[in-house]
Amino acid sequence: MSAPESPDRGTTTIVWFRDDLRVTDHPALDAACRRGEALALYVLDEASEGVRPLGAAARWWLDGSLRSLRASLEELGVPLLLRRGPAGQVVPDVLERTGAGGITWNRRYGAPERAVDAAVEQWCAGRGVAARSFRAGLLHEPSELRTGAGGPYRVFTPFWKALRSREVRQPLPAPRAGRGALPRAADAGGGEDPGGWDLLPPPERAEGLARAWTVGEAAAWERLDAFLDRVEDYAEGHDRPDRDGTSRLSPHLRWGEISPYAVWDAAVRHRAERGSSPGLEKFLTELGWREFNWHQLHHVPDLHVRHVRPRFDAFPWRDPAEAAADLRAWQQGRTGIPLVDAGMRQLEQTGWMHNRVRMVTASLLTKNLLVDWRAGEQWFWDRLVDADPACGPGNWQWVAGSGADASPWFRIFNPVTQARKFDPDARYVRRWLPELAGDEGVDPFEPGPLGPALGYPEPIVDLRASRERALDAYASTR
Ligand code: FAD
Repeated sequence: MSAPESPDRGTTTIVWFRDDLRVTDHPALDAACRRGEALALYVLDEASEGVRPLGAAARWWLDGSLRSLRASLEELGVPLLLRRGPAGQVVPDVLERTGAGGITWNRRYGAPERAVDAAVEQWCAGRGVAARSFRAGLLHEPSELRTGAGGPYRVFTPFWKALRSREVRQPLPAPRAGRGALPRAADAGGGEDPGGWDLLPPPERAEGLARAWTVGEAAAWERLDAFLDRVEDYAEGHDRPDRDGTSRLSPHLRWGEISPYAVWDAAVRHRAERGSSPGLEKFLTELGWREFNWHQLHHVPDLHVRHVRPRFDAFPWRDPAEAAADLRAWQQGRTGIPLVDAGMRQLEQTGWMHNRVRMVTASLLTKNLLVDWRAGEQWFWDRLVDADPACGPGNWQWVAGSGADASPWFRIFNPVTQARKFDPDARYVRRWLPELAGDEGVDPFEPGPLGPALGYPEPIVDLRASRERALDAYASTR
């Protein structure tokens, strides 16, 4: 897209940053710097219709990521202006105040965000501001990947096959530093400081998150490099919550501190140098699942509230008031089922949970406790540093059985069996449940009635009986 540029406007280009808080492989920044002076802009938009307000852990990450981005941009001589408000108003206001002749951004794929971008684009077209957008957050445009019949993919394997048959472009280097005179942020209506945005949770939680993560683009690259050194172990290790077997790149990808192109390219180079391995291929497939979830969101814009499979609209979830105590126990990591509680406490303390445990905790909530998956998704949305509008709801619907290419409803994880298989030495469970760490006489996977003496609750649900109840509930929707 591009509007004819008015000669009355200046040579400055505004680079509108969103979920792409990096300088390397940033096509919008690259294009602006090639054109002349660039001014970076981030808008905290909690007011536009349909835009989902960020959860607490995500806000914490955003605070650190903006500080890191500001430092990286300063090195390039590009000031970062922070503004808050509905982007459809704030962005035109910045364009007016600066007299900038152009604006660039990397595309986003949620429906409310696309509506905001379309409105800004229209405003630009009417004022002679050249607006240009780029693909940067996904390897392929969701609108371009279609089945032979022309519809969206609903099944992962053919989607993945189609995706792999297409060329993936090379990542761009960061722009070079030091280009001409720069507009001062004050010229654009006064910048704000993220410190004034009330992004941080209470100190105790913030400290836990800070202990677990280094936020920012440099940390993302370090994590990628360190992970690729051991990617060969990923085939087996990715399912083991007791090991550091996965990349932990998810929050960096969520915030765009590193692009999927950069990750893809690094993995493919690694393969060229060291040869293919099941671990590396599995890792690429997981990036494919990320794309698949965004593809779903593109076609089901309200994925966090609407079932992909309408059969679930009639599902007899428990009444929220009746299920409230169980939901609370699940949130607090006090269900009396160790693997689930360990995961929920890992989430609370670090803003992240291992994928295997995410599946088990989600299965317990939706199937054994018959709590509507949307309540669980909302909790994850608030607590995860990688909370993602596509991968969160997409995976919740996958576990619940209501999603595209989802796990069938009758696949109800047994959390005790899962723990014995994937945490065989109980290191994960003992790490997050200190109550169970010391007493060798207690089965850490199933303490049962011995739990309360250690300060650990008895199970809130009978796994076998609740499994039967879940199967009956599903049968009733036929
Ligand atoms: P790795 O195993 O190293 O995988 C590499 C990358 O691939 C990840 O960083 C992620 O971007 C992508 N990826 C891996 N698994 C999946 C998957 N199942 N679906 C989509 N992308 C995937 N992921 C999020 O990014 N945000 C979420 O809000 C989110 N919510 C989830 C909720 C539930 C109930 C479940 C079961 C999974 C959820 N996931 C979510 C997917 C997955 O658990 C995380 O992406 C993964 O645990 C992140 O850890 P990692 O970076 O070490 O992953």
